[in-house]
Amino acid sequence: MQIQAEQPSMKGPSEWFTGDVWIDTIVRGREPSRVRVSAVHFAPGARTAWHSHALGQTLSVTEGRGLVQSRGSEIVEIRPGDLVNAPADEWHWHGGTPDHFMTHLSITEDTGESDKPETDWGIHVTDDEYRGRSR
Ligand code: MN
Repeated sequence: MQIQAEQPSMKGPSEWFTGDVWIDTIVRGREPSRVRVSAVHFAPGARTAWHSHALGQTLSVTEGRGLVQSRGSEIVEIRPGDLVNAPADEWHWHGGTPDHFMTHLSITEDTGESDKPETDWGIHVTDDEYRGRSR
């Protein structure tokens, strides 16, 4: 058993996020486990860029109000207690609503292959996309 002291929050890098996003690592499974769990905190209006996960992702909303959208689908509002399952390789984004913070747990698995990242990052979500004015 190992007990680890709390680590500093990490700022979500601007290449991958719009607005203020902070990430707390909760679980980095040690081999053979590849599980990854993070708490991700989005300021109002903040969101991820478009992206997909090689092995899929589960989001568990813990606080606030958020938005999620899969490519080609409508924007959906998400609330504490909601579980969102993104299948492997499905392009999507997630973030806070325009006027509320949102925190979710992100549960993913590392691929275990150095040349195959867990997340494939694309372009930023434009303000028009975020407001649901185009897709
Ligand atoms: Mn995602």
